[in-house]
Amino acid sequence: MTLRTALVTGAARGIGLATTKLFLREGWKVAMIDRDAPALEEAAAGLENALPIVCDVSKPDEVDAAIGEVAGTHGGLDALVNNAGVADFGPIEETDFARWRRVMETNLDGVFLMSQAATPALKASRGSIVNIASISGLRASTLRVAYGTSKAAVIQLTRQQAAELGEYGIRANCVCPGPVRTKLAMAVHTPEIIAAYHDAIPLNRYGSEDEIAEVIVFLCSPKASYVTGQIVASDGGFESTGVGLP
Ligand code: NAD
Repeated sequence: MTLRTALVTGAARGIGLATTKLFLREGWKVAMIDRDAPALEEAAAGLENALPIVCDVSKPDEVDAAIGEVAGTHGGLDALVNNAGVADFGPIEETDFARWRRVMETNLDGVFLMSQAATPALKASRGSIVNIASISGLRASTLRVAYGTSKAAVIQLTRQQAAELGEYGIRANCVCPGPVRTKLAMAVHTPEIIAAYHDAIPLNRYGSEDEIAEVIVFLCSPKASYVTGQIVASDGGFESTGVGLP
């Protein structure tokens, strides 16, 4: 039987690595994309049916080469998970243009570029896209002008993809994780923010990488064959409360 192929960006650690491992356990092949070459090499070591590819998702030429390699080596693409992201907690007056662009380049441009380059292969397979946004794309806060705006744009980009690509059988969905103790989050979550999240989240805790991965892999699977254009918060109930972001 031919294995289905997923491409996961930001696969060297955190949610992307957990998603990669779950796909592999479920019998998929996985193209692991990350710009951190040493971390990617370490993460992929010993993972059968994993193809690590060093690529910065914000660079069009690198994206085209990576998609070409996946199509060539794996012979097709069934699911694209746009997970690579960078964090930034900064107020408007301290967010200079270079800082704004750093966030947009990976969080928004990267999702657009990867999805565009992968569309011919996804048309051929009637495959699916899962974009990773954030609860920060659903709620505003005083600190997330660049990060929150980039994630809100990813939510709308998902809806655009679902609307336009549905006629080719391509499904596009978006997962909005709540806080997860990854390197990205722990670089910006102060003890005060951590405590506030625990209070504001009905389940009173952070999520785990594996809990987010389960939702992503489900949305890519045939079990979700009639699900598209959806924005799914995996956040311990935070979004349902109406409480502002810490
Ligand atoms: P992480 O920092 O642990 O992992 C992110 C990975 O993406 C890293 O391996 C990094 O090298 C890679 N990456 C960053 N920029 C890249 C680029 N331009 N090209 C290729 N690779 C790049 O982060 P994480 O917490 O696992 O985050 C994964 C996604 O989940 C992100 O989109 C993030 O915004 C989102 N998210 C995370 C949380 C959280 O609390 N951790 C909450 C909501 C949303």
